[in-house]
Amino acid sequence: MIIIVKSGTKEERIRDLIRWIEAQGLKTHLSEGEYSTIIGVIGDTSKLDENLVGGLDIVEGVKRVSEPFKSANRKFHPLDSVIEVGEAKAKVGAGHFAMIAGPCSVESEEQIISVAKSVKAAGATMLRGGAFKPRTSPYDFQGLKADGIELLLEAKRETGLPIVTEIMNANHLPLFEEVDVIQVGARNMQNFELLKELGKTNKPILIKRGLANTIKELLMSAEYIMASGNENIILCERGIRTFETATRNTLDLSAVPVLHELSHLPVIVDPSHATGVARYVKPMAMAAAACGADGLIIEVHNDPAHALCDGAQSLRPEQFAELAQAVRTVRAAALEAEGGKQA
Ligand code: PEP
Ligand code: MN
Repeated sequence: MIIIVKSGTKEERIRDLIRWIEAQGLKTHLSEGEYSTIIGVIGDTSKLDENLVGGLDIVEGVKRVSEPFKSANRKFHPLDSVIEVGEAKAKVGAGHFAMIAGPCSVESEEQIISVAKSVKAAGATMLRGGAFKPRTSPYDFQGLKADGIELLLEAKRETGLPIVTEIMNANHLPLFEEVDVIQVGARNMQNFELLKELGKTNKPILIKRGLANTIKELLMSAEYIMASGNENIILCERGIRTFETATRNTLDLSAVPVLHELSHLPVIVDPSHATGVARYVKPMAMAAAACGADGLIIEVHNDPAHALCDGAQSLRPEQFAELAQAVRTVRAAALEAEGGKQA
């Protein structure tokens, strides 16, 4: 349920109303915009007498929210959320664009430091790198695990770039203490026990859409994390499985405007896993920027031909630099075409 509060209402009266609602065992979420104040109510709202609430002198209106996702719903939070990352509080969302780049997997100190330096020089705002890898075959490289996280932290010390890396098991959380953004991979999007544990942290969580999951299911997974207390979520479209085989997956770019309509959370796009082919990454990255994505996550390797994972879709650093430049141009053009916002 959402309660729209009349403009000009004194803060004290809003606080009283929130206290009264919470005393009935419900949770609230206050959203104060420039023009309106909204109280989102979560829980079994059948307990609340809609007519009674609607009749209060400070209430402009009451609406039931039919969607099963509440905290992630734009109706609860009309303004775009801005997620702050790392000590430097790098922003994502509401016009702040995240350019995340790095190898599929951390392979060695030399590799991660050299990639980190080159993507930073090309304009990356965060460094990605897998330490725990979800591989289809148990015989494939599974990642350097704890050592991989150590190497990422070293790259962060060298470059100042916040780091993004995937978690597969909640028992590994202590290893992620200094990680800036925890990634939930496509295969774990519906690992609800993992999502609940991540909800107990206050780290930004980058959650990728599952290979065969709907947009609403992605939002329900975000809702799991938010319902456990962590509202720092970045959504990621990374391609879904269709009958098409020319690309690794099919990039569902329409998910970007749909998610923006349904939710206030930032939405980024991964054209590397979506296409699986290095030469298709730049055009799809440009398309993602044109349709309003809040960021990109791109696989970059110093030597793609010898990468231990996902070499075929990895860009060389100089190709990433070209992509980053093209994306800046597209964003500027999109901004002009829309007369929109950009930070
Ligand atoms: C990755 O980012 O390296 C990865 C495994 O991605 P996804 O979960 O989207 O397949
Ligand atoms: Mn990969």
